[in-house]
Amino acid sequence: MADKLYAYSIDFKGLEVGKHLFEFLLDDAFFAEYPEGEISEGHIETQIMLHKQNNLMELTCNMSGTVQVECDRCLERFALPIEYNGTLFVKTGNPQTDSEPDVIFISEHEHRLNLAQYLYENTCLSLPIRRYHGLNGTNANDCDADMLERMNHDDQNPAEPTTEDPRWAKLKELKNK
Ligand SMILES: [Zn+2]
Repeated sequence: MADKLYAYSIDFKGLEVGKHLFEFLLDDAFFAEYPEGEISEGHIETQIMLHKQNNLMELTCNMSGTVQVECDRCLERFALPIEYNGTLFVKTGNPQTDSEPDVIFISEHEHRLNLAQYLYENTCLSLPIRRYHGLNGTNANDCDADMLERMNHDDQNPAEPTTEDPRWAKLKELKNK
């Protein structure tokens, strides 16, 4: 794993039982570590409240910020606000076959938990399927008006008319009489 992502890990071995707060920033350098992913730029502040118990750690994750996405309507890139709130349980031992999705298992000898992949996946999960100006508090008027005009123009002028205008049919009938 790249060194940069090492910063997104928690050394939990030395922590006392109880609650501990960790803060991370997911920035462009973070997303650059996932070149195959669809997010290349973003700025997301992340708080992890780690509740250490004897055989279990409960991580409450709150993420808030923006990612750069392409508008489905005008194709311009813009900063879309996103949020993610979730809980992750970390247990020691072997994964059980019927393990829940929000549980990860680590070896008893492990002392460090790397959250980079988890945080990256949370960001992807928080992205809506359709993204456009006007979503999540952004302004619909920010859509590139020239681009919208051009695309509408294309839509209204199909290369081949599929059906004949009935008025022309009437005219033809009159002509043929
Ligand atoms: Zn737009």
